[in-house]
Amino acid sequence: MIKEWESVIGLEVHLQLKTGTKVWCGCSSEYDEQGINLHTCPICLGHPGALPKLNKKVVNYALKAALALNCKINKESGFDRKNYFYPDAPKNYQITQFEKSYAEKGYIEFKLNSGREVKVGITKIQIEEDTAKAIHAKNESYLNYNRASIPLIEIISEPDMRTSEEAYEYLNTLKNIIKYTGISDVSMELGSLRCDANISVMEKGSKVFGTRVEVKNLNSFKAVARAIDYEIGRQIELIQNGGKVDQETRLWDEENQITKVMRSKEEAMDYRYFNEPDLLKLVITDEEIENVKKDMPESRLAKVERFKTTYGIDETEALILTEEIELSEYFEAVVRNSGNPKISANWVLTEVLRVLKNKNIDIEKFSMSADSLAKIIKLIDSKVISSKIAKELFEICLVDLRDPEVIVKEKSMVQLSDSSEIEKMVDEVLVANQKMVEDYKNADDGRKPRVLKGIVGQVMKLSKGKANPELVNELILKKI
Ligand code: ADP
Ligand code: MG
Ligand code: ZN
Repeated sequence: MIKEWESVIGLEVHLQLKTGTKVWCGCSSEYDEQGINLHTCPICLGHPGALPKLNKKVVNYALKAALALNCKINKESGFDRKNYFYPDAPKNYQITQFEKSYAEKGYIEFKLNSGREVKVGITKIQIEEDTAKAIHAKNESYLNYNRASIPLIEIISEPDMRTSEEAYEYLNTLKNIIKYTGISDVSMELGSLRCDANISVMEKGSKVFGTRVEVKNLNSFKAVARAIDYEIGRQIELIQNGGKVDQETRLWDEENQITKVMRSKEEAMDYRYFNEPDLLKLVITDEEIENVKKDMPESRLAKVERFKTTYGIDETEALILTEEIELSEYFEAVVRNSGNPKISANWVLTEVLRVLKNKNIDIEKFSMSADSLAKIIKLIDSKVISSKIAKELFEICLVDLRDPEVIVKEKSMVQLSDSSEIEKMVDEVLVANQKMVEDYKNADDGRKPRVLKGIVGQVMKLSKGKANPELVNELILKKI
C-alpha cells in the first residue's frame, strides 16, 4: 500500500532591531562593513569584568513586535547564558531568554493563493544578542565585532505549518507586519532577518510528529521554500527505504539546491544554560505596555480604514495597496502630487503592479518615481492627454526618466481638443462608414451605445489616439 505523508514545519526567525545602539552598551548598532571592529567597547567585546546594561529602547522595540504579533506579554522575565566556545561569541556565551521570555502565545494570520486562511501560532519571542560576524576565506578567517551584541529578537513559531507555501506566506506576512512597526529593516539580503526551518514528516493523519531536522543557511524566502520541499522529499524517501530520520542540523546548499548535514544529534552542543547573574530581571509594567501601544506607528488595518475614508477607495483595493508598506507609501506620494486619489489608485493597482509582476521586482526597484506618475495622472486629469495616450506615455516613462510633461511636448502627444480639426475627421469617418451610420439609426436604444462606440473608435484610430473622446462623441451625435 502506498502511504500518504504529511509534513510539519516550524520556523525560527531572528530579527535585528534598528535601535541605533547595541543591546548592552552604547556602541552603534549600525552594521557597516567599512569601519570593521570600530563599533566596539569592553562590554560588547566581552572583556572580563565588563558589565552589561539593558538598553531600554530594545525593550520598547521588542514590545512593539510582540504587540503586532498578538503576543501575551510576561510582566516578569529574565536573561540566561547560552554557553558555547566559538570565536564569534566574544564572551563564550550568548545572552538570551531561555527560561522565560518576555512574550509568548501570539499568532500570525494570512491567506494563501487558493483563498484558504491560515493561522500560525507563535510560541514565544525572546530578546537576545547577535554574534560577531565570522568571514571564512581560504586560508584565514576574519571576525567583525561590529555585529556583536546588536539587539535581536527571535520569533519561534509553533509547528503549525504543513507546506512550503504556508512557510513562504508566513514569512512574507511576518515581514510586512514588522515593517509597519518600524523596528527593523526585515531584510534577508541585508541580514537583518534570518530564518531557520524545522521540518519533519509523518504518515497522514498521525497524531505523533516525526523527528525534525533543522535547516540553516537560508538566504531568501524562496530558498526557505525550496529547502522545505527538498527536505520533505528526502525524509519521505529515507523512511520508505526503511531508514529513519535523525534529529540533526543541516545546511542549505544554494548552488546544488540540496541540504547537507552540518551536525548530528551526537555532536549537538550542551549549552549549559543558567541565569545571567549580571542582569536584573526584566520587569514590564502595564504603563509601559500602554505607552508602547500609543507610540505604535499606524498599523496596516488602520491604514486600510484611512484609505477607504479619505481616498474613497474600496476595501479590496485598500488591502492590496497596503499589503506592503512601501507600496502604500508610493501610492500616497502619487496622491499627494497628483491630487486625484481615484485615478492614482487605478494606475498603481493596474499599470504599476503589472510591471512589478512582469519584472518580478518590488516597488523599491520600480523605475518610475511617484512624482513622474503623478505628473502623468495630472495630464490625464486636466485632459491634456487621452487615457489611451497616457498608457503609451507610461511605457515611455518606464525607461525615459525625464519629466513626462517634457516628453509629451517633445513627442507631440497632446490631446486634440480643437473641434474644427476633430470635425474634419468625424466627417471623413462618417462618409467612409455609411453602413455603421445606418446601423446606428436602425438600432434600438439598447444597442445604440455599442454602435456609437464603434464609430468613435474609428475616429480615435484616425487621430492616432489623440482626439478627445468626449468631443468626438459629441460631434458624431450632432452629425448623425
Ligand atoms: P532549538 O533550540 O532546538 O532550535 P526551538 O524551540 O528554538 O528549538 O525551536 C524549535 C522549532 O522547531 C519551533 O519552531 C517548533 O515549532 C519546531 N518544531 C518542533 N517540533 C517539530 C517537528 N516535529 N517538526 C517540525 N518542526 C518542529
Ligand atoms: Mg532555536
Ligand atoms: Zn560596545
